[in-house]
Amino acid sequence: MGAPASGKRVVICGGGVIGAAIAYFLARRGARPIVVERHAVAGAASGKSGGFLALDWCRGSPLDALARRSFALHAALARDIGDDWGYRRLATYGGHAVETDACGPAGRKWLGEGVAVTGRLGSPDTTALVEPRAFTTGLMRAAEAQGAVLRIGTVVGLVRDADAAPVRGVALADGDVVAGDAVVIAMGPWSVVAARWLPMPAVFGYKGHSLVLATGAAIPPEALFLEYQEAGGEILTPEMFPRADGTTFVCAISALGPLPVDPAAVAPEPGAHARLEAMCRRLSPVLGAAPIVARQACFRPVTEDGLPLIGAVPGVPGVYVATGHNVWGMLNGPATGEAMAELILDGAARTVDLTPFDPRRLSPLDPARLSG
Ligand SMILES: Cc1cc2nc3c(=O)[nH]c(=O)nc-3n(C[C@H](O)[C@H](O)[C@H](O)COP(=O)(O)OP(=O)(O)OC[C@H]3O[C@@H](n4cnc5c(N)ncnc54)[C@H](O)[C@@H]3O)c2cc1C
Repeated sequence: MGAPASGKRVVICGGGVIGAAIAYFLARRGARPIVVERHAVAGAASGKSGGFLALDWCRGSPLDALARRSFALHAALARDIGDDWGYRRLATYGGHAVETDACGPAGRKWLGEGVAVTGRLGSPDTTALVEPRAFTTGLMRAAEAQGAVLRIGTVVGLVRDADAAPVRGVALADGDVVAGDAVVIAMGPWSVVAARWLPMPAVFGYKGHSLVLATGAAIPPEALFLEYQEAGGEILTPEMFPRADGTTFVCAISALGPLPVDPAAVAPEPGAHARLEAMCRRLSPVLGAAPIVARQACFRPVTEDGLPLIGAVPGVPGVYVATGHNVWGMLNGPATGEAMAELILDGAARTVDLTPFDPRRLSPLDPARLSG
């Protein structure tokens, strides 16, 4: 950690894992982050994701260093913050299954007969799991304990004296202004709204569906990635993560869907959960018999080139963006938070090279393309 920052006020728009992680690392440095959240902390994807973490699954991609740093930070945060989000190391396997009752022997007792486990994808040294809502709210609480402030409100614009003048804060829908020396856009897929006020590249929402089932101790601590063929021929790629709290998260079925303006209004596609439930019954008698604790749908933020936007917004002094983390937002939240705190307080990130994520690599979205 560098020298304490001089109480710099940083307004963070969005209380998902990215906003909470930035707030945590800023507060640890002595800055004064204010998180403005429209709906609820972890109320969107950050509360409904799988929470799967991998050390080296981004190797060969520009995300590799961010992922490796994050994987290490996850272990440190689980140790250092006295909050429990079920951080656990576990082995990870891959396999395939078809929607039929007559296919080969089961690879594991809890799996049905149509499932074949074909290989190990990770070990407890390289893969881990968190409960994502508890992780995100735990980070936010830890930030607040060090001086961060949470404000429920909807950000509708920036406050500046003139177009090229440094930012002075954000405007809220209720007419209030939250003053700040810097502003970070971390609204997940809703970051696209900021393209009205800023030269920002597009951010899209990719919808995913999931179930959380009360499986108790019936499923061993092993994550599983499958390829599953439905009777109609469609291939799904279910992911199953048994959590430390005795639940198992199962997800599949993603689609580009219309993003509702209000994060609280996200709803599943018709029939998606019924398909997931049928798949669970086919894949595992344990999943088929387990009570369903939650049926979830949420949007992950995706950019045009699949890499996140992490850095200063060009031409608007004091404004930054951190979004577009796609399928790795839970993993990459911590190193994003740490690097953003360095960028905002020291002028440059030290722990991770943010160059591949510079928002300037993509053209800004034409605000005329935003409807509503
Ligand atoms: C089904 C599924 C499974 C996944 N599994 C994994 C996994 O196993 N591992 C992994 O690493 N990642 C996973 N992800 C990805 C991960 O969940 C996302 O990348 C991450 O949650 C994105 O976090 P975020 O903070 O950018 O956005 P969000 O969680 O969407 O948070 C943005 C916040 O901004 C708020 N907001 C919106 N508009 C405004 C406004 N105008 N004013 C103020 N606040 C506003 C919203 O209410 C929301 O709380 C998964 C995603 C999905 C969909």
